[in-house]
Amino acid sequence: MIDRDSLFIAAGLCAAALALPMLSVWIHNRSDRFLIGWAAGMLLLATGVILYSVLPPDNMAIAATAFTMEIVGFVIVFVAARQFAGRETSLLQVMLLLLTAVSVGVPIALGFDGFGIMIYNFLAGGFLAASAGQYWTTRSEAPSSMALLCLLYVLAALSFFACGAVLLHEAEWIMGRRPDNWAEQFNAIMCIIGITGVGALSLGLNHARAARRHRQEARTDILTGLLNRRALFDSMSAQDLQPGHAVVAFDLDDFKAINDRHGHAIGDEVLRRFADAMRVALREDDIAARIGGEEFVLVLRNASSLLATSTAERIRAIFAQSRVETANGLISGTASAGVALVQIQSESFESVLHRADTSLYRAKDSGRDKVVAELQAVA
Ligand code: GH3
Ligand code: MG
Ligand code: MG
Repeated sequence: MIDRDSLFIAAGLCAAALALPMLSVWIHNRSDRFLIGWAAGMLLLATGVILYSVLPPDNMAIAATAFTMEIVGFVIVFVAARQFAGRETSLLQVMLLLLTAVSVGVPIALGFDGFGIMIYNFLAGGFLAASAGQYWTTRSEAPSSMALLCLLYVLAALSFFACGAVLLHEAEWIMGRRPDNWAEQFNAIMCIIGITGVGALSLGLNHARAARRHRQEARTDILTGLLNRRALFDSMSAQDLQPGHAVVAFDLDDFKAINDRHGHAIGDEVLRRFADAMRVALREDDIAARIGGEEFVLVLRNASSLLATSTAERIRAIFAQSRVETANGLISGTASAGVALVQIQSESFESVLHRADTSLYRAKDSGRDKVVAELQAVA
């Protein structure tokens, strides 16, 4: 078998080697902040592990420094896991977590290396298990990768708990040498496997997240947060429209005049207010999109002409009542809408939208600020 020190030096080198690609990915995309945490934690762990494995173990100052560094590393890895799960950690919380390193560093500095290292192992196991808990909350993003990631964290945590338990059982509080037993071997091997696996998985998960974010951004209208034109047409071509689906086309009235009178920024705010009105009236299955400058579309499933018309009417009324603050006082806008129902099986979205637009023109022609449903063909 490979001796204990070589195994731990290998684990340390592994951690350092994985921290570097993490850092380079982070440099290219600074918003992936959890990567910098993971990399910094790993670099501290690597330094601590290698220091303790190559320098004389009876030098308590070195041992205390090495193990304190490692606890700080575990704290940072845990904070990075929280960040990945979308949880912020306050400075006070970080300070409290870092304070746990005192329970390791002080006993070792005082010569009780066996005791300090036992505490270190239990703390390390705790931070790794807690990190697994953080990742577990995000498992729906990528179930199999996340399960593997959590398993690696839990196995590493167990190996630290085993080391702590053996030291507790031996109760040799002053050692002056490195602990060397079956649990330490298991721990070193688990660290090598864990660090490599977790490093690769974390990079992959981060990449998948970035790709998902970009896809989402490409589907979203930046101004209103609704779907954009492309996303609406894509999702409509991917599914068959059926009788019972309704399409409502909206167009803001005299919107050019609002821009001309109050400026483009106020015009943008009015557009956002219209989107808010749509969101208020939306049912869970409905789809709302901004398909052009001041043109919006709502697709309703399982809607009668009456329901589609009353939903459009509700949006029109909410929007007409909302006010936008301008330098010249509060202003409001109005909108017109045209409603069309899918009439035959597999009618194309373009065709229904065209009919909704025809109704919309009738609403405009008959004075604006109203909803017009198309005349139903009676079979
Ligand atoms: P109508 O009642 O007949 O629909 O008249 P309208 O003035 O609303 O219609 P028109 O098509 O003449 O004007 C639409 C205006 O929408 C013109 C354009 O400057 C403005 N617009 C398009 N996109 C945006 C945008 O993103 N922000 C703002 N503020 N204005 C926009
Ligand atoms: Mg228009
Ligand atoms: Mg208009």
